[in-house]
Amino acid sequence: MITRFAPSPTGPLHLGHAYSALLAHDMARSAGGTFLLRIEDIDQSRARPEWEAQIYDDLEWLGITWDTPVMRQSDRLGSYRDVLKQMWWDGLLYACSCNRRDIQEAASAPQEGAVNYGPDGIIYPGTCRNSVTDRDHYPSEPPPDKALRLDWSTFPKGALEGLSFQETGSGNDEKHRVDLDHLVRNVGDVVLARREMGTSYHLSVVLDDAAQGVTHVVRGEDLFDATHIHVALQAGMGLPTPVYNHHRLIRDNDGKRLAKRDDARAISKYRTDGASPNDIRALIGLTKS
Ligand code: GLU
Repeated sequence: MITRFAPSPTGPLHLGHAYSALLAHDMARSAGGTFLLRIEDIDQSRARPEWEAQIYDDLEWLGITWDTPVMRQSDRLGSYRDVLKQMWWDGLLYACSCNRRDIQEAASAPQEGAVNYGPDGIIYPGTCRNSVTDRDHYPSEPPPDKALRLDWSTFPKGALEGLSFQETGSGNDEKHRVDLDHLVRNVGDVVLARREMGTSYHLSVVLDDAAQGVTHVVRGEDLFDATHIHVALQAGMGLPTPVYNHHRLIRDNDGKRLAKRDDARAISKYRTDGASPNDIRALIGLTKS
């Protein structure tokens, strides 16, 4: 078993992160497996070395040990680019120059009906896809100054049939079907490379989980919809699909989800207030086995 914790160094780790990390860590350790760390720092405008240092420090304090090497997404931009190039040459991607406002306007055009939202925001109405006239005459390299979107219809049909993933944990093991038509309608052409990043969350997570050999992904239930996208991408790219455990979200006293800016719930704040790692476990309902 190989599990992982994949924080973004864009703010302090809070109770929700501790829950994810401890669940994944304990799952691997109790199975004699491997627990890996991945620093998800593709958003270089928000990632900070001091947050990364704080992540290691908080995890160690919590009693979490990880196997090495630690993967850092900013070291993998070349690999992402290589995959994107191949997908571009295979005619799976198209360049998109729409900004948020263009998408909002195109999606609200009278012929489009109501504006629909998916897990990635407004469902892209396909403006730039429709303007691609000849895929055989694409420039030889994907343009670096544009976003790259996946046209689901170009993925080999057979690869995307009968997809599902296995959910585990909390006593509710079940299989979830991943329906391509649903994805096309409810997610649209997913962005695999953002203009300013050269990759995207979805592409990087799928490639990195495969590169790290992750067999069990433990993460919050807020990413359940994203998992459907990831499973379809894995199938289209011939990568294995891990087992998933989407855990409950840790909420504040008002029942709201914790966010990065909820410094009141930062692990570092509990530490300065004198809490012990076991106090943190108790707070999130995880007693040491
Ligand atoms: N980097 C993501 C986050 O901090 C986690 C993504 C994942 O676990 O797949 O929310």
